[in-house]
Amino acid sequence: MENEEKVLPCADKLALDTKKQAEAAATVADYQRNVKLAPYKCQHCGLWHLKSVY
Ligand SMILES: [Zn+2]
Repeated sequence: MENEEKVLPCADKLALDTKKQAEAAATVADYQRNVKLAPYKCQHCGLWHLKSVY
């Protein structure tokens, strides 16, 4: 049998351990790239990612 490794749908996303870190990363992205991002807790990995805000 092949060893089937499960890949999370968010595997290639930036992952932060805490909301505070995610908020800091969003602030940096806004400052450096002028993009509005909002932190959200991921249901797949339990970490925090950033999503675009329109
Ligand atoms: Zn995730």
